[in-house]
Amino acid sequence: MDGQKLFLFDFDGVIVDGMNEYWQSSLLACDKFLNSPDIKINQDLYKKVSNTFKEIRPWVKYGWEMVLIVHEIIKLENPLDKNNKKDFINQYHQNCQKILKNNDWLAEDLQKFLDESRKYQIDKDFEMWVNLHKPFYEVISFMEKLKQEKIKTGIITTKGAIFATKILETLNIFPELIFGYESGTKTEIAKKLYKTYEIVGFIEDRMKTLIEIKQNPDTQNIPCFLADWGYLKESDISTLPKEIRLLKLRNLEDLLAI
Ligand SMILES: [Mg+2]
Repeated sequence: MDGQKLFLFDFDGVIVDGMNEYWQSSLLACDKFLNSPDIKINQDLYKKVSNTFKEIRPWVKYGWEMVLIVHEIIKLENPLDKNNKKDFINQYHQNCQKILKNNDWLAEDLQKFLDESRKYQIDKDFEMWVNLHKPFYEVISFMEKLKQEKIKTGIITTKGAIFATKILETLNIFPELIFGYESGTKTEIAKKLYKTYEIVGFIEDRMKTLIEIKQNPDTQNIPCFLADWGYLKESDISTLPKEIRLLKLRNLEDLLAI
């Protein structure tokens, strides 16, 4: 360890609120690439994010799951809605696997469709695509302050790194490190980084990810913060382990004292 300090951030739900983009891009992936006989895409669907989708988003780990969820929500027969949503999230992982199997889909293909859908929109109208993301300006200003303190910043996201980079550039944020889903799990990435840097914090809105970091002997000393402005499950706050701190946007700058 050379003592160089590094602060890590998740991207979606921490730096930006991309709910509109997740819906649009996943819907477009279903529309253009999925080729499913069970759906019929009406243009009105693009106008408003489904509430069921918003409510399920806290369970999502990888982008491909959003394509699958949108498909379930818009399918003509027995769609996923407020009536069966609870059953779906109670066995979230198993349900995603079952749906993949029943449709003969591969997770990698759905991820590819989502990435293609993003590329398509970027080529067609970059401005429009970027504007689907709402930045959390408090986080951006915190990142700038870290820079002034000579603390490096790194993003670890389950999005493709190229997409996170494009959004960050428009926000004038240039983190030293950006890792997307291509680079492995967040714990693996953190473990590697920990060999080189002194990691002074990790802000993430998925509690399970922070628990994995805290349970791994190689990364357990990383100070972990759950972003209360992100996509949290209702149960997250009441079941938060004591070694993970709940963070509010207004308390971000307190972390500069570290
Ligand atoms: Mg997140």
